[in-house]
Amino acid sequence: MSELKVYNSLTRTKEVFTPVTPGYVGMYVCGPTVYSDVHLGNCRTFISFDIIYRYLKYLGYKVRYVRNITDAGHLEGDRDEGDDKFSKKARLEQLEPMEIVQKYTLGFHKVMELFNNLPPTIEPTATGHISEQIEMVKQIIANGYAYIVDGTVYFDVEKYNKEKPYGILTNRKLEDLLEGTRALGGQDEKKGRLDFALWIKAKPEHLMQWPSPWGMGFPGWHIECSAMSGKYLGKQFDIHGGGMDLAATHHTNEIAQSQACYHTSPVNYWLHTNMLTVNGARMSKTAGNGFLPHQLFTGDHPLLDKAYAPMTVRFFMLQTHYRSTLDFSNEALQAAEKGLKRLWEAYENLSSLVYQDIDNAQLDNELEKRCINLVNGFDESMNDDFNTAKVLANMFELAPVINSLKHGQVLLASISKQTLELLQNKFSAYLFDIFGLKNEKENDSALLDGVLQLLIQIRKEAREKKDFTTSDKIRNKLQQQGITLKDEKNGSVSWAID
Ligand code: AMP
Ligand code: ZN
Repeated sequence: MSELKVYNSLTRTKEVFTPVTPGYVGMYVCGPTVYSDVHLGNCRTFISFDIIYRYLKYLGYKVRYVRNITDAGHLEGDRDEGDDKFSKKARLEQLEPMEIVQKYTLGFHKVMELFNNLPPTIEPTATGHISEQIEMVKQIIANGYAYIVDGTVYFDVEKYNKEKPYGILTNRKLEDLLEGTRALGGQDEKKGRLDFALWIKAKPEHLMQWPSPWGMGFPGWHIECSAMSGKYLGKQFDIHGGGMDLAATHHTNEIAQSQACYHTSPVNYWLHTNMLTVNGARMSKTAGNGFLPHQLFTGDHPLLDKAYAPMTVRFFMLQTHYRSTLDFSNEALQAAEKGLKRLWEAYENLSSLVYQDIDNAQLDNELEKRCINLVNGFDESMNDDFNTAKVLANMFELAPVINSLKHGQVLLASISKQTLELLQNKFSAYLFDIFGLKNEKENDSALLDGVLQLLIQIRKEAREKKDFTTSDKIRNKLQQQGITLKDEKNGSVSWAID
């Protein structure tokens, strides 16, 4: 099998993936800021990393997957000023800030579950790691890369840049970055325009604040990820991920903080997902063009013609490589719905095939080779920087072959038993374990059957007690719903949709 190659934003090349400790992978993904519902753009990033997590596990790695919850320190705008997002929302909704955090964390988990994302192995919160963040800030000050102004601690970007290239992640020089920032005014406490806060002094009315060596305050947004990734994955770990929008500031600052604290480059492979857009514009909480997952599931949005199942949305995302932009539209979702239906049909046909040796049947060598190549292409595409879109393209090329084998247009014996098994095993591993898709149709019918078996049992008990009013009522009401109960000769009862 080919080796796994990943595109590293830091080196801007595809590299062979070699973890720090053979067999083990440490992966950190920036999680949601829980002051509001996650939108579909956020979900795209979390689904992309869920696939990466699942694929690494499929390859046999033992993965420690850390995805944080940002529940403190994220100010409005990404500058070190203004209210923090939690306090503002708490005032608006008349709740405690931690009630805001709880409400949106639960909502986030529910959405992740609906999309069938696996939970991370550790989900640390910023508020649960204040002391680790303070320790890190103390060390950065001790190493000479930060200064204190009236209870706020700033990272000294220009000093750091004299030793290490600050803009390394996005390949930009300090002069260019400086050009893009506004000049400091008389009010500013910072020494340099690019300096950012590691710890922020809290005004007395600020709702979330903690004691520190510099007085009451709260951590800056960037330090939380450095402190928590360092704590759970070590000073140098394998993969750090997030959306591309985080690279220029948040991740750039994470690198600087860790370097300034531990003198090591914290991350070996930086992975960034591209943005989900609506009519070409990035979907974002602040732009207000965010689709909420439940709006999709109910169809309750002016831009939507109908409701879409979570698996349709997941499949829609898998059809595009994670580093390409993905534009959200009604038509694209409709096409995804049809595509997914075709894929399940092929999968059901494939799993129902039972190999039979037929005397004198001829193996079709060309077909055999084609099937093997296409199915081996699944791993090759995933090893090429997790190219889910290419895997799906191969599956769609195999679908008509599978359907013809099922419907007898092509003899099953045209391919070997091993190839049939290879197809069955790989389709199942990819659809369920790696792509995390669920056959919602199958789930629905299993659920319906469960409910009907219960009603059939209640009807049976009613009849045994000669309560024919109840037993007839069950049968008649079901009949009205288009479901017929049939008393079989052997005493069992079956059901059918008319
Ligand atoms: P936030 O809750 O805004 O901190 O974002 C959570 C995650 O979603 C981060 O990794 C962001 O980079 C990512 N993200 C935000 N907007 C989008 C978008 N439109 N498309 C894809 N990912 C996004
Ligand atoms: Zn982060």
